[in-house]
Amino acid sequence: MRIQDKVAVVTGAGSGIGLAIARRFVAEGAKVVALDWHADAIAAAVSDIGGAIIGMTGDVSKEADCVAMIDRAAAEFGRVDILVNNAGVMDLFQSVADVDNATWRRCMAVNVDGPMYAMRRAVPLMLELGGGSIVNIASVAATGGGAAGAAYTASKHALIGLTKSTAFQYAKLGLRCNALAVGGVSTNIMDSVEGHALDQAGLGRLGAYQASNPGMLEPADIANAVLFLASDEARHLNGAVLPVDMGWSAA
Ligand code: ADP
Repeated sequence: MRIQDKVAVVTGAGSGIGLAIARRFVAEGAKVVALDWHADAIAAAVSDIGGAIIGMTGDVSKEADCVAMIDRAAAEFGRVDILVNNAGVMDLFQSVADVDNATWRRCMAVNVDGPMYAMRRAVPLMLELGGGSIVNIASVAATGGGAAGAAYTASKHALIGLTKSTAFQYAKLGLRCNALAVGGVSTNIMDSVEGHALDQAGLGRLGAYQASNPGMLEPADIANAVLFLASDEARHLNGAVLPVDMGWSAA
């Protein structure tokens, strides 16, 4: 019960990492608002997890959906203590000369605009109550150029910038903001990338990434690290980018 009675908002909670985070948060005593753009997935997640969790369907790239999500947590549970920006989309490993506008915009809209919209709404509520903890799910592609295409890499680097700016701006007000630089995780996002990337470009960059990857993580591994950063155990961590990658970035 490491986050007993805390109110948490988790995006992209219909599958993969977000689902594992929502499940763990409820098990550790939190009340959770869980959002995903797949209505069926979030409904299944909520009924499977059970207990103090509310599911919402929404697209984090739409400001109105992020506002509704944060406001729902405040209305139902009276406060917002924890926000986990997990919803994300991957690119197809296109380098800058190949990337199309739709891929570029989508990566920026979901991976950067979404967290900004959610944080912009949540931060004032958190500050009113003395602070809070924001955890942004970034990637090994947030700290180097060898793990994805140009659009995804740029978007995750931007998410780290947003994380550090927020950490610095509110450090004296009890609000913390940290990120995880996550390595390869066994989820749909990787399945979809592998299918597309292999179809399009042979082994290419994905093959190079996989050849150097020490091993795939499970969503529960990420949930463990998120729980730590979200909880008061990490009260001394602010603006950190924690690698959770089995050592990949140590190279
Ligand atoms: P991972 O867990 O590795 O990030 P998944 O594809 O399994 O990969 O999970 C990402 C989750 O985020 C999915 O459930 C997906 O539906 C959700 N998601 C992706 N984009 C959005 C979005 N714009 N708004 C809300 N949820 C989203």
